[in-house]
Amino acid sequence: MKVFGSSGVRGVVNETLTPEYALQVAMAAGTVWRNELGVSRVVLAHDTRTSGGMIADAARSGLASVGLDVDYLGTIPTPGAQTYADRESIPALMVTASHNPPQHNGIKLIGRDGIELAVDQLERVEQRLLGERFERSEWGAIGQARTIDGVRQDYIDQLLEAVDRERIADAELTVAIDPGHGAGSVTSPQFFRELGCHVLTINAQPDGHFPGRKPEPVADNLGDLQRLVETSDADLGIAHDGDADRAIFVDETGSFIEGDAALAALAREELRAGDGVVSAVSTSQRLVDVADDVGAELHLTRIGSSHIITKVQALQKEGTRVPIAGEGNGGIIFPGYRTIRDGAYTAARFCELLADQEASEIAADYDEYYNVRKNVHYEDEGERSAMTDAIETVAHQTDVDVTTIDGHRLEFDDGWVLARPSGTEPLIRIYAEARDPDRAEELAALMHDAVTAAAAAA
Ligand code: MG
Repeated sequence: MKVFGSSGVRGVVNETLTPEYALQVAMAAGTVWRNELGVSRVVLAHDTRTSGGMIADAARSGLASVGLDVDYLGTIPTPGAQTYADRESIPALMVTASHNPPQHNGIKLIGRDGIELAVDQLERVEQRLLGERFERSEWGAIGQARTIDGVRQDYIDQLLEAVDRERIADAELTVAIDPGHGAGSVTSPQFFRELGCHVLTINAQPDGHFPGRKPEPVADNLGDLQRLVETSDADLGIAHDGDADRAIFVDETGSFIEGDAALAALAREELRAGDGVVSAVSTSQRLVDVADDVGAELHLTRIGSSHIITKVQALQKEGTRVPIAGEGNGGIIFPGYRTIRDGAYTAARFCELLADQEASEIAADYDEYYNVRKNVHYEDEGERSAMTDAIETVAHQTDVDVTTIDGHRLEFDDGWVLARPSGTEPLIRIYAEARDPDRAEELAALMHDAVTAAAAAA
């Protein structure tokens, strides 16, 4: 696919992502939905970016011009729009750039089941877009828009139904919530209050300038949340990305909890022998160890939530139970709830664990893992292919299990190493992880040495 990446369309506003472009994407998606699904109505929503209203207005025009009525939800987390789409059984167009910087925006397309569009459907939308084959309506059939009220509370209400309210209320938690001025600002603090938690907030006013922190919930951006948790009696800090489909945690001492550690802790709670669990090819040894311990099978996909969702659905079709899936960036899927990433739901499930243990105790079980990341730059195609050949040679010469779904991941008894060309930059990315820091360095060096030697000889 040329236009749609694994997370839809993204770009810098008024440069690569213009209202004109949003109009065309909406007309293309609308034409496909009307023809293939026979729908007459779609959902439209956006996150808190300054460009959200502008891009959504253009999309609204595009949808109306191909004859679709629009249920406009305004600002709501992506999982809130997905929940509404599923309830109404109509597709959705979500204007969001998720964790990207403030000057970016994007469009995510969601099916009538509330789940991100699968690759084959995105390809059909893309063909219409590139060929400009839009089927505009005659004047009497142009779509009309209406604003839907109460959807934030509806979303919160269905979340409340889906989690163990009693267990969370009994834990008498104080939670510090940092939605990072994103869409989670309009729902997460209220949700946790209704769960019976005492709620502290930071960066919880919707603001597309993101004055308090950048939208990506990584450790570098969460210093203020860490200090708030450390200096208050909060049991947990919860941070979202811009559209609140991800949740990242800070323990009661103010320490950042690695996303991979939270995923592993939640997986240990969910998984039973014989289950399947799906993650990306860069997944942590923590999840490998949890799956091994409980006797579940770990399936790895290419990086990106759409690949993970496709694999979850394929396993379910074969009759495999898949209670959890996701990545170490806070994007976790609980298919028993919904096959979507939902930051508020994920955070509530983590709060359930706090009924028995402090957050720091939960994280401590997954502390002793060491990650090494290295990038090797290449100048041209010749260097690139010499490097990928070298990676392949190492993979063949080493007598271990190799996953080749996205680069080469070599699985050793005490750790792993992955080497793959970056999708966006002229780099070979090398990731290694082990419980022993020297071993992690050694595994990274195995690939790094081979790749740099190949580049020198090329
Ligand atoms: Mg997101």
